[in-house]
Amino acid sequence: LGLPDQAPNFQRLPLRTGRMKNGNRFSVVVGGTPPYTVHRSRQQMVRDVREGLTKSPKQLSPKYFYDERGSELFEEITQLPEYYLTRAERMLLERRISEIIAAVRPCSLVELGAGSATKTRIILDEMRSNGCAECYVPVDVSKEFLEAAAVQLRADYVDVQVMPLVSDITEPFALPPVASPTLVAFLGSTIGNFQREEAVRLLSHIADEMGPSDRF
Ligand code: SAH
Repeated sequence: LGLPDQAPNFQRLPLRTGRMKNGNRFSVVVGGTPPYTVHRSRQQMVRDVREGLTKSPKQLSPKYFYDERGSELFEEITQLPEYYLTRAERMLLERRISEIIAAVRPCSLVELGAGSATKTRIILDEMRSNGCAECYVPVDVSKEFLEAAAVQLRADYVDVQVMPLVSDITEPFALPPVASPTLVAFLGSTIGNFQREEAVRLLSHIADEMGPSDRF
């Protein structure tokens, strides 16, 4: 589309204006959590919205559900009786985490689409009690929500280096150097939101970033 690097007049897009609290959230490009890739996503979003909403049937990537309010709504959904996924995943993690950590012996945890990182605590607790929980890298596109989760985690896990990464995981992104072995977690059935090619691309990218002792 040859969009200029400068933001298009994004606030006039009805899709977002109704949701923004300050009307200007996505114009913040520097500051906050580095590396900060939402600038790129803004251009991508214009392209995705044009492409998706002119298709039949219309479609839009679920990543656009998740601004701060969208993330809050998702948290509320996870507490509904009919949303069994979170409870089932929590139960599986609680049952199996000691086996997983004993097999991988990770010192770092990278989590894709971390959200509130609530279930992540099960993993971090087990890593800690196994003697190694040096770094936690939650990756998410929902900047404000991710940063709030990181503040909470830093307070509760003072010995763990929490390094939030605001990135769109459907695009290539670089992981910071962390102590290995690294366990990469992708909780919450988020992979089911991606088209097959997108999921394959994402997993291939993560595989390229992983070392021989890292596990997914
Ligand atoms: N892992 C959490 C949250 C799942 S909801 C849990 O299990 O409860 C999906 C999360 O993935 C949201 O926090 C959303 O912001 C994030 N997400 C969705 N698409 C994304 C994308 N393309 N890149 C990065 N994060 C994404």
